[in-house]
This record gives sequence, structure tokens and C-alpha cells, in this order.
Amino acid sequence: MSAERVYEMGHAELRGLWEETRVCEMEHAELRGLWQETRIPLRYRKRVLAGLCRAFNVPRIRVRSCKVPGAHGCYYVRDGEPRIDLCPRSGSDMLTLAHEFAHYVTHMRCPRARDHGPTFLFHYMQVCDALRLVPAAGFRAACRKHGLRIARVK
Ligand SMILES: [Zn+2]
Repeated sequence: MSAERVYEMGHAELRGLWEETRVCEMEHAELRGLWQETRIPLRYRKRVLAGLCRAFNVPRIRVRSCKVPGAHGCYYVRDGEPRIDLCPRSGSDMLTLAHEFAHYVTHMRCPRARDHGPTFLFHYMQVCDALRLVPAAGFRAACRKHGLRIARVK
């Protein structure tokens, strides 16, 4: 990203970029580990995703494997339909699925929440705990270490 581009950003956009960077740093330092090396077949991840949708009481979501420039995965809404794209290489691990699903749950429950803010981190923590990927206590400790706040959501 060019210095000119950063200079043009508004406060909200800069804060969003800052939060995304901080969450990404925390993930890489504390959560990723050898998960980064795993390539879980899409059909298994789809099965896990269906289980997550039931557990979090949200409608099934469309997921596909495709290139995601500059990221492991991406959550977005197109034509009113929520979708998750996962990079065939860097996004075929369980943590990326947890991260993108957490965006979906956050969007469904708290549509005004910031992309990588404290409310997102609350849902991300819940998803990781439900998957037995990272226990909530460990997720809290990781966030504390990196100065990231987790919201309290009812
Ligand atoms: Zn994200």
C-alpha cells in the first residue's frame, strides 16, 4: 500500500486497517502454529461449517474455494446472500474457516459491529471454542497479550 493511499484514508478506514493488522498479528503469533500447514479437504470443511451454522443458529452459508488476493479467506454479501471464499492453499486450514465464519455470525447478530473490532473478537472466540480449536481462556489470554479488547455480547 502506498503512502499516498494511507494519507487519503478517513479515520474509520484507518482504524479498520489498524484493527485488521492487529488481529492478524495476534493470530499468527498465538493461534496459527502448525494449523498453517494443514490442508483440510473442502468437503470436510463444508461439513464443519454446516455444524457451526446449526450450533450458532444461523442459516446455511455458501462457501467456495477460490483465490482471495492478499488474504486467506473472505466473508462478503452479494445479491443479499452471505458467502465465504477460502483460498485453496493458504485458506484450507480450520482457523481460516473459524475466522470467516466469525465474520458471518458477527454480521448476523451485530450488523453494525466493526469488521475486526471487539464484537468480532467475541464471536471469533466463541467459534474457536466451539470447534475446540482454541479454548476461550486461551483466546482471552492471547488477546490480552496483544492488547486486543473482547466485547461482552449477550
Ligand atoms: Zn477478517
